[in-house]
Amino acid sequence: MIPYGHQSISEDDIQAVVDVLRSDRLTQGPVVPRFEGALASYCGVDHVVAVSNGTVALHLACLALGLGPGQTLWTVPTTFAASANCALYCGASVDFVDIDPDTWSMSTAALARKLEEAAASDALPAVVVPVHLAGQSCDMRAIGELAETYGFAVLEDACHALGGTHDGRPVGSCAHSDAAVFSFHPVKSITTGEGGAIATRDEATAERMRLLRSHGITRDPALLEAEAAGPWYYEQVELGYNHRITDIQAALGASQLLRLDGFVERRSALAARYDTALEDMPVSTQASREGSSSARHIYVVRIAEQTAGVTRDAVLEGMAERGVGSAVHYLPVHLHPYYRRLGFEEGRLPEAERYGSEALTIPLFVGLDDGTQDVVIAALADVLG
Ligand SMILES: *Cc1c(COP(=O)(O)O)cnc(C)c1O
Repeated sequence: MIPYGHQSISEDDIQAVVDVLRSDRLTQGPVVPRFEGALASYCGVDHVVAVSNGTVALHLACLALGLGPGQTLWTVPTTFAASANCALYCGASVDFVDIDPDTWSMSTAALARKLEEAAASDALPAVVVPVHLAGQSCDMRAIGELAETYGFAVLEDACHALGGTHDGRPVGSCAHSDAAVFSFHPVKSITTGEGGAIATRDEATAERMRLLRSHGITRDPALLEAEAAGPWYYEQVELGYNHRITDIQAALGASQLLRLDGFVERRSALAARYDTALEDMPVSTQASREGSSSARHIYVVRIAEQTAGVTRDAVLEGMAERGVGSAVHYLPVHLHPYYRRLGFEEGRLPEAERYGSEALTIPLFVGLDDGTQDVVIAALADVLG
């Protein structure tokens, strides 16, 4: 079965990991800060905090931005559940903004409308999480302007978008946001096995995430409440977590980062081949946003039963019968049973719900060769009749 996504591991990547395994420090050594520095310079941002996965990156960012009980986080339903769950971890609540029918990410118009209503009823969000679906940045300039008007923090869920650009700057530069979060799960732009990171321009936010990443325990004289009793001295000053990443993982990440531009180039070439091949098929693809280049995390086609004459689910099954794996990104978060039990109902977010019934992710990964991609294209054409 051709998978929808797959990591690319080189001999250099393997050697980088082996070097750490032969060194004295498997964790809390020199490689994590080196990886953080390399990511910060790639993204053109002052601070990067690397953590054990993208989900805890969202959690720590929310905590550092001050999200807590009595407050609300807004995100889109068309995302991985973690973009919303992070609010609940902090004791805050969640609400959803519908997506744009063409770019499939947060609709700036829907956001503006919802903010206007919320302002009238004193129910503005504390944090808004735009998600860069499939690797293409949301309209961050417009979202940043709304943030200034209404006074909320902006946390970019950039888990799909490392290697993409927006307005000529790398995603993660945080030009219009307070922080941006990445994941290094094997299907993402680069991998560390499990891993994640937060980028921010704000030093205090970065320091707070570093403290919370490691139990809330510090040796920093500026944070200690008592006089240091000796060089061994440390204090727990907050309730933190162990959300650390290991040097083993960071070594893989740093090695992968050197290959990132090549990865994006290959993904873009494959996406362009799909664009051409799908022109005559009864499917629609993601509209590109002017001024941004996508990291091409996934390639999604929408199959509307009325135009295609066949359901998305039938296409998924037909592809599987032809040896082609595909997936659905995403079932709208508010329609998961857990979220329905919180009171979210079908019908309130029609664009995200329609997208959720039509979207199909077809194979796109660095190691996909043209010939195998042609098999995918032929299978899709065949299933669509
Ligand atoms: C992958 C992903 C996450 C979570 O990252 P993990 O590293 O798997 O915890 C969060 N949001 C989005 C949009 C993702 O794709």
